[in-house]
Amino acid sequence: MSPISLLSLLVRPHARGLRTVVASTIRQVNATRALGSVIPRKLEAPSALFGSTIRRLSTAAPEFFQVESLPDSSTTVTLDNKIRVNWHDGQQSQYHNVWLRDHCRCPECYHQLTRQRLVNTFKIPTDIRPSDLTLKKDTIEVTWANDSHKSIYPLTWLRQHSYDPPLADPKTTEIPIFWGAEIAENPPTVQFDDVMHSDSALSHWLTNITTYGFSFVDGVPVTPSHTEQLARRICFLRETHYARGLWDFTADLAHGDTAYTDLALRAHTDNTYFTDPSGLQLFHLLEFDGTGGQSLLVDGFHAAAELHRRSPDAYATLAEIPVPTHSAGDAGVFIIPTPRARPILNHDPVTGRLYQVRYNNGDRSTLTGLEARDVERFYEALRRWDEVIEDKAMEFWTALRPGRAMIFDNWRCLHGRAAFTGHRRLCGVYLNWDDYRSRVRVLGLSEEKERLI
Ligand SMILES: [Zn+2]
Repeated sequence: MSPISLLSLLVRPHARGLRTVVASTIRQVNATRALGSVIPRKLEAPSALFGSTIRRLSTAAPEFFQVESLPDSSTTVTLDNKIRVNWHDGQQSQYHNVWLRDHCRCPECYHQLTRQRLVNTFKIPTDIRPSDLTLKKDTIEVTWANDSHKSIYPLTWLRQHSYDPPLADPKTTEIPIFWGAEIAENPPTVQFDDVMHSDSALSHWLTNITTYGFSFVDGVPVTPSHTEQLARRICFLRETHYARGLWDFTADLAHGDTAYTDLALRAHTDNTYFTDPSGLQLFHLLEFDGTGGQSLLVDGFHAAAELHRRSPDAYATLAEIPVPTHSAGDAGVFIIPTPRARPILNHDPVTGRLYQVRYNNGDRSTLTGLEARDVERFYEALRRWDEVIEDKAMEFWTALRPGRAMIFDNWRCLHGRAAFTGHRRLCGVYLNWDDYRSRVRVLGLSEEKERLI
Protein backbone atom coordinates (compact mmCIF):
# COMPACT_ATOMS: atom_id res chain seq x y z
CA MET A 1 0.00 0.00 0.00
CA SER A 2 1.41 3.37 -0.93
CA PRO A 3 1.76 5.98 1.78
CA ILE A 4 -1.20 8.27 2.11
CA SER A 5 -0.95 11.79 3.32
CA LEU A 6 -3.08 14.81 3.82
CA LEU A 7 -1.61 17.50 1.62
CA SER A 8 -2.89 20.64 3.26
CA LEU A 9 -5.90 22.30 4.69
CA LEU A 10 -7.63 25.65 4.41
CA VAL A 11 -10.84 27.14 5.76
CA ARG A 12 -13.19 28.12 2.93
CA PRO A 13 -16.73 28.35 4.25
CA HIS A 14 -18.60 29.10 0.99
CA ALA A 15 -17.63 26.46 -1.54
CA ARG A 16 -21.19 26.00 -2.79
CA GLY A 17 -20.30 24.35 -6.09
CA LEU A 18 -18.56 21.58 -4.21
CA ARG A 19 -21.48 21.14 -1.87
CA THR A 20 -23.82 20.32 -4.76
CA VAL A 21 -21.53 17.57 -5.97
CA VAL A 22 -21.20 16.17 -2.48
CA ALA A 23 -24.97 16.12 -1.92
CA SER A 24 -25.62 14.00 -5.00
CA THR A 25 -22.93 11.55 -3.93
CA ILE A 26 -24.59 11.18 -0.55
CA ARG A 27 -27.95 10.37 -2.14
CA GLN A 28 -26.39 7.57 -4.17
CA VAL A 29 -24.73 6.08 -1.11
CA ASN A 30 -27.96 6.21 0.89
CA ALA A 31 -29.95 4.53 -1.87
CA THR A 32 -27.42 1.71 -1.97
CA ARG A 33 -27.54 1.29 1.80
CA ALA A 34 -31.35 1.19 1.89
CA LEU A 35 -31.36 -1.62 -0.65
CA GLY A 36 -28.58 -3.36 1.24
CA SER A 37 -30.71 -3.62 4.34
CA VAL A 38 -33.13 -5.88 2.46
CA ILE A 39 -30.92 -7.62 -0.08
CA PRO A 40 -27.16 -7.86 0.42
CA ARG A 41 -25.60 -5.12 -1.72
CA LYS A 42 -23.26 -7.52 -3.43
CA LEU A 43 -23.66 -11.14 -2.51
CA GLU A 44 -20.05 -11.60 -1.82
CA ALA A 45 -18.99 -15.19 -1.56
CA PRO A 46 -15.52 -15.31 -0.07
CA SER A 47 -13.90 -16.05 -3.41
CA ALA A 48 -10.51 -14.37 -3.07
CA LEU A 49 -8.89 -17.51 -1.74
CA PHE A 50 -11.14 -19.98 -3.47
CA GLY A 51 -9.52 -23.32 -4.05
CA SER A 52 -7.80 -25.92 -2.00
CA THR A 53 -4.32 -24.41 -2.09
CA ILE A 54 -2.94 -23.95 1.39
CA ARG A 55 -1.40 -20.51 1.57
CA ARG A 56 0.96 -19.05 4.07
CA LEU A 57 -0.71 -16.77 6.55
CA SER A 58 0.54 -13.22 6.21
CA THR A 59 1.93 -11.91 9.45
CA ALA A 60 2.66 -8.43 8.11
CA ALA A 61 1.32 -5.60 10.24
CA PRO A 62 -1.51 -3.69 8.59
CA GLU A 63 -0.48 -0.34 7.13
CA PHE A 64 -3.28 2.12 7.54
CA PHE A 65 -1.93 5.54 6.94
CA GLN A 66 1.25 7.54 6.85
CA VAL A 67 1.76 11.26 6.68
CA GLU A 68 4.64 12.18 4.44
CA SER A 69 4.67 15.91 3.97
CA LEU A 70 2.64 19.06 4.29
CA PRO A 71 3.15 21.10 1.12
CA ASP A 72 1.44 24.42 0.47
CA SER A 73 -1.24 23.60 -2.06
CA SER A 74 -4.76 24.22 -0.83
CA THR A 75 -6.59 20.96 -1.26
CA THR A 76 -8.68 20.67 1.87
CA VAL A 77 -11.59 22.97 2.51
CA THR A 78 -14.50 23.33 4.87
CA LEU A 79 -17.90 23.37 3.27
CA ASP A 80 -20.95 24.91 4.89
CA ASN A 81 -21.77 21.94 7.04
CA LYS A 82 -18.83 19.60 6.66
CA ILE A 83 -15.08 19.26 6.31
CA ARG A 84 -13.45 17.71 3.30
CA VAL A 85 -10.13 15.88 3.45
CA ASN A 86 -8.11 15.24 0.30
CA TRP A 87 -5.96 12.21 0.87
CA HIS A 88 -2.55 11.64 -0.65
CA ASP A 89 -3.80 8.68 -2.70
CA GLY A 90 -6.37 10.86 -4.49
CA GLN A 91 -9.32 9.83 -2.33
CA GLN A 92 -11.52 12.50 -0.77
CA SER A 93 -13.59 12.19 2.40
CA GLN A 94 -16.32 14.49 3.70
CA TYR A 95 -17.27 14.64 7.37
CA HIS A 96 -20.32 16.51 8.65
CA ASN A 97 -19.58 19.05 11.39
CA VAL A 98 -22.27 17.55 13.62
CA TRP A 99 -20.75 14.08 13.14
CA LEU A 100 -17.28 15.35 14.02
CA ARG A 101 -18.49 17.19 17.13
CA ASP A 102 -20.47 14.12 18.26
CA HIS A 103 -17.33 11.99 17.87
CA CYS A 104 -14.94 14.23 19.80
CA ARG A 105 -12.69 11.89 21.80
CA CYS A 106 -11.37 14.37 24.37
CA PRO A 107 -11.74 13.43 28.08
CA GLU A 108 -14.64 15.85 28.45
CA CYS A 109 -16.56 14.26 25.59
CA TYR A 110 -15.50 10.62 25.87
CA HIS A 111 -14.68 8.66 29.02
CA GLN A 112 -11.07 7.58 28.67
CA LEU A 113 -11.43 4.42 30.77
CA THR A 114 -14.92 3.17 30.00
CA ARG A 115 -14.68 4.34 26.38
CA GLN A 116 -18.23 5.59 26.37
CA ARG A 117 -19.68 8.84 25.04
CA LEU A 118 -20.07 11.71 27.50
CA VAL A 119 -20.79 14.59 25.13
CA ASN A 120 -24.43 15.63 25.09
CA THR A 121 -25.28 14.95 21.47
CA PHE A 122 -28.54 16.85 21.81
CA LYS A 123 -26.87 20.10 22.87
CA ILE A 124 -24.80 20.29 19.69
CA PRO A 125 -26.10 23.25 17.63
CA THR A 126 -27.63 22.00 14.39
CA ASP A 127 -25.67 24.66 12.51
CA ILE A 128 -22.36 23.98 14.29
CA ARG A 129 -19.32 25.39 12.47
CA PRO A 130 -15.58 25.42 13.11
CA SER A 131 -13.99 28.77 13.89
CA ASP A 132 -10.54 27.34 13.36
CA LEU A 133 -9.05 24.32 11.64
CA THR A 134 -5.40 23.34 12.08
CA LEU A 135 -3.52 20.53 10.45
CA LYS A 136 -0.85 18.91 12.61
CA LYS A 137 1.46 16.09 11.62
CA ASP A 138 -0.94 13.26 12.48
CA THR A 139 -4.12 15.09 13.48
CA ILE A 140 -6.61 17.76 12.58
CA GLU A 141 -7.52 20.19 15.35
CA VAL A 142 -10.92 21.82 15.17
CA THR A 143 -12.09 24.71 17.35
CA TRP A 144 -15.86 24.99 17.36
CA ALA A 145 -17.39 28.47 16.93
CA ASN A 146 -20.28 28.10 19.38
CA ASP A 147 -18.28 27.37 22.56
CA SER A 148 -14.59 27.37 21.52
CA HIS A 149 -14.33 23.67 22.40
CA LYS A 150 -11.29 22.09 20.77
CA SER A 151 -11.49 18.62 19.18
CA ILE A 152 -8.51 16.64 17.91
CA TYR A 153 -9.00 13.93 15.28
CA PRO A 154 -6.19 11.51 14.39
CA LEU A 155 -5.85 11.17 10.62
CA THR A 156 -5.69 7.37 10.93
CA TRP A 157 -9.03 7.43 12.72
CA LEU A 158 -10.58 9.76 10.13
CA ARG A 159 -9.37 7.58 7.29
CA GLN A 160 -10.61 4.40 8.95
CA HIS A 161 -14.06 5.88 9.56
CA SER A 162 -14.56 7.66 6.27
CA TYR A 163 -18.24 7.21 5.40
CA ASP A 164 -18.56 9.62 2.46
CA PRO A 165 -17.35 7.71 0.66
CA PRO A 166 -16.65 4.50 2.56
CA LEU A 167 -12.99 3.79 1.80
CA ALA A 168 -11.45 0.39 1.27
CA ASP A 169 -10.92 -1.80 4.31
CA PRO A 170 -7.42 -1.86 5.70
CA LYS A 171 -5.36 -4.89 4.87
CA THR A 172 -6.78 -7.69 6.94
CA THR A 173 -4.70 -9.69 9.37
CA GLU A 174 -7.25 -12.50 9.32
CA ILE A 175 -7.05 -14.43 6.08
CA PRO A 176 -9.45 -17.37 5.80
CA ILE A 177 -8.00 -20.32 3.97
CA PHE A 178 -10.53 -22.63 2.35
CA TRP A 179 -10.02 -26.35 2.49
CA GLY A 180 -11.56 -29.64 1.43
CA ALA A 181 -10.84 -33.33 1.94
CA GLU A 182 -7.09 -32.75 1.50
CA ILE A 183 -6.90 -31.00 4.89
CA ALA A 184 -6.80 -34.55 6.34
CA GLU A 185 -3.11 -34.74 5.38
CA ASN A 186 -2.12 -31.93 7.70
CA PRO A 187 -4.98 -30.64 9.86
CA PRO A 188 -4.26 -27.57 12.02
CA THR A 189 -3.26 -28.85 15.46
CA VAL A 190 -1.87 -27.46 18.71
CA GLN A 191 -0.80 -29.08 21.99
CA PHE A 192 -2.85 -28.88 25.19
CA ASP A 193 0.11 -28.08 27.46
CA ASP A 194 1.24 -25.25 25.20
CA VAL A 195 -2.21 -23.67 25.02
CA MET A 196 -2.70 -23.92 28.78
CA HIS A 197 0.61 -22.28 29.65
CA SER A 198 1.41 -19.83 26.88
CA ASP A 199 -0.50 -16.93 25.35
CA SER A 200 1.45 -17.26 22.13
CA ALA A 201 0.26 -20.88 21.84
CA LEU A 202 -3.26 -19.68 22.61
CA SER A 203 -2.87 -17.15 19.80
CA HIS A 204 -1.70 -19.94 17.50
CA TRP A 205 -4.78 -21.98 18.41
CA LEU A 206 -7.14 -19.04 17.78
CA THR A 207 -5.36 -18.21 14.53
CA ASN A 208 -6.00 -21.79 13.39
CA ILE A 209 -9.69 -21.23 14.12
CA THR A 210 -9.93 -17.85 12.39
CA THR A 211 -7.95 -19.15 9.41
CA TYR A 212 -9.30 -22.67 8.88
CA GLY A 213 -12.49 -22.54 10.93
CA PHE A 214 -11.30 -25.43 13.11
CA SER A 215 -8.35 -26.87 15.03
CA PHE A 216 -7.42 -30.01 16.88
CA VAL A 217 -5.85 -29.92 20.32
CA ASP A 218 -3.73 -32.97 21.15
CA GLY A 219 -2.56 -34.20 24.52
CA VAL A 220 -5.75 -33.30 26.37
CA PRO A 221 -6.11 -35.32 29.60
CA VAL A 222 -9.17 -37.53 29.10
CA THR A 223 -11.50 -35.90 31.60
CA PRO A 224 -14.44 -33.50 31.36
CA SER A 225 -12.73 -31.04 33.70
CA HIS A 226 -9.56 -30.75 31.59
CA THR A 227 -11.74 -30.30 28.51
CA GLU A 228 -13.57 -27.49 30.28
CA GLN A 229 -10.31 -25.83 31.37
CA LEU A 230 -9.15 -25.90 27.76
CA ALA A 231 -12.31 -24.18 26.52
CA ARG A 232 -12.06 -21.57 29.28
CA ARG A 233 -8.73 -20.44 27.80
CA ILE A 234 -10.90 -18.75 25.18
CA CYS A 235 -13.86 -17.54 27.22
CA PHE A 236 -16.63 -18.59 29.60
CA LEU A 237 -18.98 -21.38 28.58
CA ARG A 238 -22.46 -20.96 27.23
CA GLU A 239 -25.31 -22.48 29.18
CA THR A 240 -28.14 -23.93 27.13
CA HIS A 241 -31.12 -26.19 27.70
CA TYR A 242 -28.69 -29.08 27.11
CA ALA A 243 -26.25 -28.31 29.91
CA ARG A 244 -24.91 -25.79 32.41
CA GLY A 245 -21.74 -25.28 30.44
CA LEU A 246 -19.98 -28.56 29.65
CA TRP A 247 -22.14 -31.36 28.32
CA ASP A 248 -21.16 -35.01 28.69
CA PHE A 249 -23.31 -37.59 26.98
CA THR A 250 -23.85 -41.03 25.52
CA ALA A 251 -26.53 -42.13 23.04
CA ASP A 252 -29.23 -42.31 25.69
CA LEU A 253 -31.67 -39.74 24.27
CA ALA A 254 -31.27 -37.77 27.49
CA HIS A 255 -32.37 -34.79 25.39
CA GLY A 256 -34.85 -34.77 22.56
CA ASP A 257 -32.29 -34.24 19.81
CA THR A 258 -30.83 -36.65 17.26
CA ALA A 259 -27.34 -35.80 18.58
CA TYR A 260 -28.31 -37.97 21.57
CA THR A 261 -28.89 -41.05 19.37
CA ASP A 262 -26.58 -43.39 17.41
CA LEU A 263 -27.98 -42.15 14.08
CA ALA A 264 -25.86 -40.59 11.35
CA LEU A 265 -25.98 -36.78 11.32
CA ARG A 266 -25.70 -34.99 8.00
CA ALA A 267 -23.54 -31.89 7.76
CA HIS A 268 -25.17 -29.02 9.63
CA THR A 269 -24.46 -26.09 11.90
CA ASP A 270 -25.73 -26.10 15.47
CA ASN A 271 -28.22 -23.78 17.11
CA THR A 272 -29.95 -22.57 13.94
CA TYR A 273 -32.95 -22.16 16.26
CA PHE A 274 -31.19 -19.62 18.50
CA THR A 275 -31.35 -15.94 17.67
CA ASP A 276 -27.59 -16.00 18.29
CA PRO A 277 -26.12 -19.43 17.42
CA SER A 278 -23.04 -20.47 19.39
CA GLY A 279 -19.84 -19.22 17.80
CA LEU A 280 -17.58 -22.14 18.68
CA GLN A 281 -18.17 -25.74 19.60
CA LEU A 282 -15.58 -28.06 21.14
CA PHE A 283 -15.83 -31.87 21.19
CA HIS A 284 -13.75 -34.35 23.14
CA LEU A 285 -14.38 -38.09 22.77
CA LEU A 286 -13.85 -39.60 26.22
CA GLU A 287 -14.78 -43.25 25.65
CA PHE A 288 -15.55 -45.36 22.61
CA ASP A 289 -16.03 -49.10 22.30
CA GLY A 290 -17.79 -49.84 19.04
CA THR A 291 -17.73 -49.20 15.31
CA GLY A 292 -18.41 -46.14 13.13
CA GLY A 293 -19.06 -42.71 14.56
CA GLN A 294 -16.46 -40.86 12.48
CA SER A 295 -16.80 -37.08 12.58
CA LEU A 296 -17.36 -34.91 9.53
CA LEU A 297 -16.34 -31.30 8.95
CA VAL A 298 -17.16 -29.21 5.89
CA ASP A 299 -15.80 -25.69 5.29
CA GLY A 300 -19.07 -23.80 4.85
CA PHE A 301 -17.39 -20.68 3.43
CA HIS A 302 -15.60 -22.81 0.86
CA ALA A 303 -18.91 -24.55 0.08
CA ALA A 304 -20.63 -21.17 -0.32
CA ALA A 305 -17.93 -20.00 -2.74
CA GLU A 306 -18.29 -23.25 -4.68
CA LEU A 307 -22.08 -22.88 -4.81
CA HIS A 308 -21.61 -19.33 -6.10
CA ARG A 309 -19.30 -20.66 -8.81
CA ARG A 310 -21.69 -23.42 -9.85
CA SER A 311 -24.93 -21.47 -9.52
CA PRO A 312 -25.02 -17.76 -8.65
CA ASP A 313 -28.83 -17.96 -8.67
CA ALA A 314 -28.89 -20.70 -6.05
CA TYR A 315 -26.45 -18.69 -3.95
CA ALA A 316 -28.63 -15.58 -4.19
CA THR A 317 -31.72 -17.60 -3.25
CA LEU A 318 -30.11 -19.02 -0.11
CA ALA A 319 -28.88 -15.54 0.80
CA GLU A 320 -32.36 -14.11 0.44
CA ILE A 321 -35.08 -16.55 1.50
CA PRO A 322 -35.56 -16.73 5.29
CA VAL A 323 -35.85 -20.21 6.76
CA PRO A 324 -37.75 -20.76 10.04
CA THR A 325 -36.22 -23.12 12.62
CA HIS A 326 -37.05 -24.52 16.05
CA SER A 327 -35.89 -26.67 18.96
CA ALA A 328 -38.80 -28.40 20.64
CA GLY A 329 -37.66 -31.96 21.39
CA ASP A 330 -37.32 -31.50 25.16
CA ALA A 331 -40.36 -31.28 27.39
CA GLY A 332 -40.55 -27.72 28.65
CA VAL A 333 -38.44 -26.29 25.81
CA PHE A 334 -39.82 -24.44 22.81
CA ILE A 335 -37.16 -22.29 21.19
CA ILE A 336 -37.54 -20.31 17.99
CA PRO A 337 -35.31 -17.44 16.89
CA THR A 338 -36.16 -13.77 16.60
CA PRO A 339 -36.63 -12.84 13.82
CA ARG A 340 -38.59 -16.03 13.17
CA ALA A 341 -36.59 -16.98 10.08
CA ARG A 342 -33.12 -16.25 8.72
CA PRO A 343 -31.42 -17.10 5.43
CA ILE A 344 -28.93 -19.97 5.24
CA LEU A 345 -26.21 -17.64 3.93
CA ASN A 346 -26.08 -14.44 5.99
CA HIS A 347 -24.32 -11.30 4.75
CA ASP A 348 -23.22 -8.17 6.52
CA PRO A 349 -25.60 -5.47 5.22
CA VAL A 350 -22.80 -2.88 5.16
CA THR A 351 -19.86 -4.82 3.70
CA GLY A 352 -21.86 -7.41 1.75
CA ARG A 353 -19.60 -10.15 3.10
CA LEU A 354 -20.80 -13.61 4.05
CA TYR A 355 -20.38 -13.88 7.81
CA GLN A 356 -22.55 -16.81 8.86
CA VAL A 357 -23.79 -20.13 7.51
CA ARG A 358 -26.91 -21.18 9.40
CA TYR A 359 -28.01 -24.58 8.16
CA ASN A 360 -29.63 -27.63 9.69
CA ASN A 361 -32.18 -29.25 7.43
CA GLY A 362 -33.47 -31.28 10.38
CA ASP A 363 -34.29 -28.20 12.45
CA ARG A 364 -36.18 -26.42 9.69
CA SER A 365 -39.76 -25.58 10.70
CA THR A 366 -42.81 -25.67 8.47
CA LEU A 367 -42.03 -23.41 5.54
CA THR A 368 -44.57 -20.65 5.56
CA GLY A 369 -44.09 -17.03 4.70
CA LEU A 370 -42.64 -17.89 1.29
CA GLU A 371 -44.03 -16.29 -1.83
CA ALA A 372 -45.64 -18.99 -3.98
CA ARG A 373 -43.16 -18.24 -6.76
CA ASP A 374 -40.24 -18.87 -4.39
CA VAL A 375 -41.14 -22.41 -3.29
CA GLU A 376 -39.64 -24.36 -6.17
CA ARG A 377 -36.75 -21.89 -6.47
CA PHE A 378 -35.93 -22.50 -2.81
CA TYR A 379 -35.97 -26.31 -3.10
CA GLU A 380 -33.82 -26.15 -6.23
CA ALA A 381 -31.26 -23.94 -4.45
CA LEU A 382 -31.30 -26.25 -1.42
CA ARG A 383 -30.60 -29.23 -3.69
CA ARG A 384 -27.64 -27.44 -5.25
CA TRP A 385 -26.30 -26.58 -1.78
CA ASP A 386 -26.67 -30.20 -0.67
CA GLU A 387 -24.76 -31.36 -3.77
CA VAL A 388 -21.87 -29.09 -2.83
CA ILE A 389 -21.65 -30.03 0.85
CA GLU A 390 -22.02 -33.76 0.04
CA ASP A 391 -19.23 -33.56 -2.54
CA LYS A 392 -16.50 -35.96 -1.39
CA ALA A 393 -13.87 -33.33 -2.21
CA MET A 394 -15.48 -31.04 0.38
CA GLU A 395 -15.72 -33.56 3.21
CA PHE A 396 -13.11 -34.00 5.91
CA TRP A 397 -13.80 -37.23 7.78
CA THR A 398 -11.85 -37.92 10.94
CA ALA A 399 -12.06 -40.41 13.78
CA LEU A 400 -12.02 -38.55 17.08
CA ARG A 401 -10.02 -40.20 19.83
CA PRO A 402 -9.55 -39.70 23.55
CA GLY A 403 -6.89 -37.04 24.12
CA ARG A 404 -7.69 -35.10 20.93
CA ALA A 405 -10.21 -32.26 21.21
CA MET A 406 -11.74 -30.69 18.12
CA ILE A 407 -12.95 -27.08 18.10
CA PHE A 408 -14.70 -25.40 15.20
CA ASP A 409 -16.34 -22.14 14.15
CA ASN A 410 -20.06 -22.92 14.13
CA TRP A 411 -20.76 -19.87 11.94
CA ARG A 412 -18.45 -21.21 9.23
CA CYS A 413 -18.01 -24.99 9.48
CA LEU A 414 -20.70 -27.63 9.14
CA HIS A 415 -20.25 -30.81 11.12
CA GLY A 416 -21.78 -34.26 11.07
CA ARG A 417 -21.26 -37.82 12.21
CA ALA A 418 -21.46 -41.36 10.87
CA ALA A 419 -23.84 -43.80 12.54
CA PHE A 420 -22.20 -45.96 15.19
CA THR A 421 -22.66 -49.02 17.32
CA GLY A 422 -21.49 -49.63 20.85
CA HIS A 423 -20.65 -47.28 23.70
CA ARG A 424 -19.61 -43.72 22.86
CA ARG A 425 -19.14 -40.96 25.42
CA LEU A 426 -18.51 -37.44 24.20
CA CYS A 427 -18.19 -34.19 26.11
CA GLY A 428 -18.02 -30.64 24.86
CA VAL A 429 -18.98 -27.02 25.20
CA TYR A 430 -20.53 -24.14 23.34
CA LEU A 431 -18.84 -20.71 23.37
CA ASN A 432 -20.51 -17.44 22.44
CA TRP A 433 -19.48 -15.77 19.20
CA ASP A 434 -19.02 -12.30 20.74
CA ASP A 435 -16.82 -13.52 23.60
CA TYR A 436 -14.67 -15.65 21.28
CA ARG A 437 -14.24 -12.68 18.93
CA SER A 438 -13.41 -10.38 21.84
CA ARG A 439 -10.58 -12.76 22.82
CA VAL A 440 -9.29 -12.71 19.24
CA ARG A 441 -9.26 -8.89 19.23
CA VAL A 442 -7.69 -8.47 22.64
CA LEU A 443 -4.87 -10.83 21.66
CA GLY A 444 -4.24 -8.58 18.66
CA LEU A 445 -5.20 -11.22 16.09
CA SER A 446 -7.83 -9.11 14.34
CA GLU A 447 -7.75 -5.96 12.23
CA GLU A 448 -10.53 -4.66 14.47
CA LYS A 449 -8.14 -2.92 16.82
CA GLU A 450 -9.39 -1.19 19.94
CA ARG A 451 -7.90 2.11 18.84
CA LEU A 452 -10.14 2.14 15.80
CA ILE A 453 -13.47 2.14 17.65
ZN1 LIG B 1 -14.41 17.19 23.32
